[in-house]
Amino acid sequence: MDLGLKKYSKNGMIKDIEQERDITERWYAGEYAQTMKLSTLIEAAKFGIGECDETCLSREISGEGNCMCVRSIFTHPEFYMLYTRLRQMYVTGRFVSLVNEALGDMNADK
Ligand SMILES: [Zn+2]
Repeated sequence: MDLGLKKYSKNGMIKDIEQERDITERWYAGEYAQTMKLSTLIEAAKFGIGECDETCLSREISGEGNCMCVRSIFTHPEFYMLYTRLRQMYVTGRFVSLVNEALGDMNADK
């Protein structure tokens, strides 16, 4: 399952720390918000988005859960927060049958 998580390394894309902070603030303010497909959110909850590279400079600057890797999937922090809650529910087994039912219904619609 590839949800398009992009990994950004120390030698990667960040050249300007102030720009990174500015982008993170704008992300928090919802300036990049777009709708997110429910199926993508549920698939993310089921499979997890993985962890970004240990050398993710964006994470070092912006903090865990706020880096480019997360922002590339979730266009608004609320989506990420919802993902973390659903993922926790899935991992603890309280959400498994519901997710599988939902994904089955969505796949049946295709
Ligand atoms: Zn990252």
